[in-house]
Amino acid sequence: MERHILTVDVEDNFTFDELANKEDWPKYEGQVVENTLKILSLLRQYNAGATFFVVGMLAERHPELVKYIMDDGHEIASHSYLHKSLRDVSMDDIEADIRKSSDILSSLTGEQVLGFRAMGYTIPQDEKTFYSLLKKHGYKYDSSKKKNMERNCQTIQKDHIYRVFPSSVNIYGLKTVFSGGTYLRLLPEFIINKGFSHYSMAGQPVMLYVHPWEFNRDQPKRNVRFKYKILQSPLTFSTERKLRLLLEKYEFVSIRKYIGV
Ligand SMILES: [Zn+2]
Repeated sequence: MERHILTVDVEDNFTFDELANKEDWPKYEGQVVENTLKILSLLRQYNAGATFFVVGMLAERHPELVKYIMDDGHEIASHSYLHKSLRDVSMDDIEADIRKSSDILSSLTGEQVLGFRAMGYTIPQDEKTFYSLLKKHGYKYDSSKKKNMERNCQTIQKDHIYRVFPSSVNIYGLKTVFSGGTYLRLLPEFIINKGFSHYSMAGQPVMLYVHPWEFNRDQPKRNVRFKYKILQSPLTFSTERKLRLLLEKYEFVSIRKYIGV
């Protein structure tokens, strides 16, 4: 069975930049625990493994969630503490955020956190310093960059820190990510299948990324722009159905297991 990578960005649907005021978070109805439990139950059915990138602030709010994920044998990685864009943020602030999220997650897991993913693939411009910071804090891999500009169909690049990219496909000459978030929700199945075949032929894994809120059509109301109302409308929620089909066809593992760190 072909082996691919599955990742989950553990967050609620209000924890994104559009609703950046973190003070407002407690006002929203959080569903992250129940939605993540749905994913865990689905993965159990197919004996699949995954990396769960957990937002530090949510781990603080729901420490039991980290335990549920670990009890099922999945990997816990960091999705930053505050879940805000890392672009145009000073390296000192980024380091403080990395340190805080690592401390919280490792105190809950009892292990060093090995993987990091920035909110919305917002890797800082100074990638070199950023990777050095991650390395300094014990990280082995990063998954904060959306596009692998250097090589087509390459999911994992081994530099001084492993870099793990979402997967992309060419549609009529246009290269687009297909393996998660809005792309996975909106793209038709034949494009996703085409993407998987490309990666298979290149001998590379596809890296899927999903969000717990995509598994629950009953979403709390949010005051967001029209664009997000459309792109994140429950009418687009096809992730669960698509993931189920993929789980039937392929073996999925965590990034840690795939890389072997
Ligand atoms: Zn996120």
